[in-house]
Amino acid sequence: MSVIDPFEGVFGQPQVRGFLRASVENGRVTHAYLFTGPAGSNKTLAAYALAEALICGCGECDACRKVRRRKHPDVHYYAPEGAVGYLVDQVRDIVADTALAPIQASSKVYIVDRVDLMNAASANAFLKTLEEPPDDVVLILLGRTRESVLPTIVSRCSVVPFRHIPATEAAGIIAQQAGVTPARARIGLAACDGSITKTIEFVKSNERMEFRKSVLGVMGRLASMDSWACIEAARELVDLAKAPLDEIRAAQEAEIRENEDFLAKSAIRRIEERNKKALTAKSLESLHQVASIAASFLRDVLAVCAQSPELVVNADVMTAIEEAASATDEARIARAIASVRACSAAISYNVSPETCFDALLFELKEALYGSRSPYQACI
Ligand SMILES: [Zn+2]
Repeated sequence: MSVIDPFEGVFGQPQVRGFLRASVENGRVTHAYLFTGPAGSNKTLAAYALAEALICGCGECDACRKVRRRKHPDVHYYAPEGAVGYLVDQVRDIVADTALAPIQASSKVYIVDRVDLMNAASANAFLKTLEEPPDDVVLILLGRTRESVLPTIVSRCSVVPFRHIPATEAAGIIAQQAGVTPARARIGLAACDGSITKTIEFVKSNERMEFRKSVLGVMGRLASMDSWACIEAARELVDLAKAPLDEIRAAQEAEIRENEDFLAKSAIRRIEERNKKALTAKSLESLHQVASIAASFLRDVLAVCAQSPELVVNADVMTAIEEAASATDEARIARAIASVRACSAAISYNVSPETCFDALLFELKEALYGSRSPYQACI
């Protein structure tokens, strides 16, 4: 029995926790899993917990800590590199990597996110490995629903269904884990698209909470901003979104320096490559957060317009929300929310973030307060 249970932190999923724990304890781990569940159901966290249990599981050693910090060189995480899903080349890279020997541990774990975004061609490149991976490899695939994953993939995996965690329960878990109020937890959830793990990190960081304030500040000033102010604000948003990357880059460089002496050149190269991808993913995540925070502001304005101020999440900027609500109407807000969604999609398609935010602020200003169509202020 382990000292620290790697599965303890898989909040809100008691059945999954019990199932995975028993599989490890009874030596019944299979070579391929498919975790299915909506965003925010803790699939990624559970995948890393299983990886930790497979790599060692004591919960205390350097290897276990590395897995938990998502830094272990033998635990690989992949997300789709193409805007609409996995590219065949990316899948071929994953397959080629599974054939390599582990770097530090005696086995390797591959966490492959969003396999619901794997089309038939990409899946075909993956099937043989999925059916018969090398002996030292365990594959953990993550997907939103079982139905959205190609049957050829589902049939080769042991499926583990995750339940939807209701927002109030998620806020409670975050409040407890991060030591913040449930109100702050809800604010974080709105910024992090419902992900519990990301929200815990977000609400604990003063820098991230400041970042949120700045985005809300721009949203609150929109009505009075001229064209130049919009351009400037767009640039400001990009700078803010990219600020945390410097810190991550520094940590990555320190990690390389630490390992340089006892790792082979090829292993270092693989770590560098993984770091580069992690940095890109973090940058995208941060840019998407700008959109999520803007959307949560707009939903709050809508709530006030609909006479339901108790639904407001960003209660700390209530004055700005009420001001916006008094100058626009529900149909206009719906258009504005659609613009934010389009902006988020454009970011995924690698359109330059300056261009995306620039266009977004102009569109929001026009949609909410523009003079093109007469409107009835709702309060
Ligand atoms: Zn350990």
